[in-house]
Amino acid sequence: MFETYLNEVDRRAPEICAVSDGIWDHAEIAFGEKVSSGILADALEKAGFEVTRGIAGIPTAFRATYGAGKPAFGVLAEFDALQGLNQAPCVTEKKTIPGPDIGHGCGHNLFAGGSLGAALAVKAYLEENGAGSITFFGCPAEENGAGKVYMARAGVFEGIDAIVSWHPEKMYMPRTRPALALITISYAFEGVSAHAGGSPHLGRSALDAVELMNVGANFLREHMETTCRVHYAITDTGGEAPNVVQSHAKVKYIVRALTSEKVRALRARVDDIARGAALMTGTKVSWQVENAYSELITIPTLQQTAYEAMRDIPLPVPTAEENAFGRALQKTMPLSELPETVYAEELLKPAPAVAHGGSTDTADVSWCAPTVQMHIGTWAIGTPGHSWQAVSQGKSSYAHKAMLYASKAVAGTIMRLAEDPLLLERAKAEHREKTKGGYICPIPDEIKPAIPRE
Ligand SMILES: [Zn+2]
Ligand SMILES: [Zn+2]
Repeated sequence: MFETYLNEVDRRAPEICAVSDGIWDHAEIAFGEKVSSGILADALEKAGFEVTRGIAGIPTAFRATYGAGKPAFGVLAEFDALQGLNQAPCVTEKKTIPGPDIGHGCGHNLFAGGSLGAALAVKAYLEENGAGSITFFGCPAEENGAGKVYMARAGVFEGIDAIVSWHPEKMYMPRTRPALALITISYAFEGVSAHAGGSPHLGRSALDAVELMNVGANFLREHMETTCRVHYAITDTGGEAPNVVQSHAKVKYIVRALTSEKVRALRARVDDIARGAALMTGTKVSWQVENAYSELITIPTLQQTAYEAMRDIPLPVPTAEENAFGRALQKTMPLSELPETVYAEELLKPAPAVAHGGSTDTADVSWCAPTVQMHIGTWAIGTPGHSWQAVSQGKSSYAHKAMLYASKAVAGTIMRLAEDPLLLERAKAEHREKTKGGYICPIPDEIKPAIPRE
């Protein structure tokens, strides 16, 4: 019954693909996505959506709404790219192109185009079926900047009844995988420099403190829950001269756990380790939270609805050339054996969630409104995200087909919810139950998005 509206995606396919390719061409990173955000917002404005740019204090974040009142549906779009991934499109070897060393290794150009297609189809549905609204949220800085967490903190997702989203993947399935809560903190040690040979007794080494902190954190691992994760990177070693006692040094930590509450508890122990390292070395320590994500709230009713919507749409069928292209890319990966098919050819049922070590800023959206995501198989099986292979596939014809499938799957899910108020009510009840404690934004109020200065 939704076919007429889903056909809107096919009718507007050239426009949707052009938006995706345009964003691929202009690959921009966290909070600097001026062109990418503009391409999307302009397309929505042209399509009759009411666009508000620069929301939540972020110049590249925007909202585009069609219709009014309830039910209020939302779709998300990301459009930031990754540093270090300059890569030519649609080739089967690692090859750079003129321009900055930035590339769409996470398929966010497709994510943006696919969500645009979904919004257009839902608009077509609302035009003929009365009340309700669809809001397209332009969400910057997913990779490195927690864009959606700041948007959640600013309340931009409030009042939305359900948010349906997706992400490029190597399979077709509603997402059931959990996402860990995390916090990123930079610890800065300050000591006293001195001649390391002549007057070492006068020096207090900040680098010693960083090393001791890491030793402490590594011993902590045995005494934390197995689902927790602690990672660090030394971001300032205090200089390159071994004969100068290092008066400054910095180490950045990411602490992950199943819930924000568990992150807070584990992070307190890491803070204690930092204090201990400072005490041992006679240095001072201070720290700064850089970003944080909550844990993802999953809504089984929405997962099932998404599955049913996906089931109604035929999966894209790759051509011989598309298969050859994907196969050649698979051969560039150290796979133990080549997968039977190049692209996913089967829709998977929402499977019971298995533990996963990753995190996402969509988690904070999921606290504000019932949210579901879908994995859509835009990439050849075995070619990972954040790779040159993913960048190369971002403008390929198979990826375009999978993106248009995503548009229909997202729109189909929303139309099902719009047609069945009881279904939507059930999803909202599940959400209320799972978020009983209320949303506490894990990023402290005083921390602002890291928007680059002009
Ligand atoms: Zn990514
Ligand atoms: Zn991504």
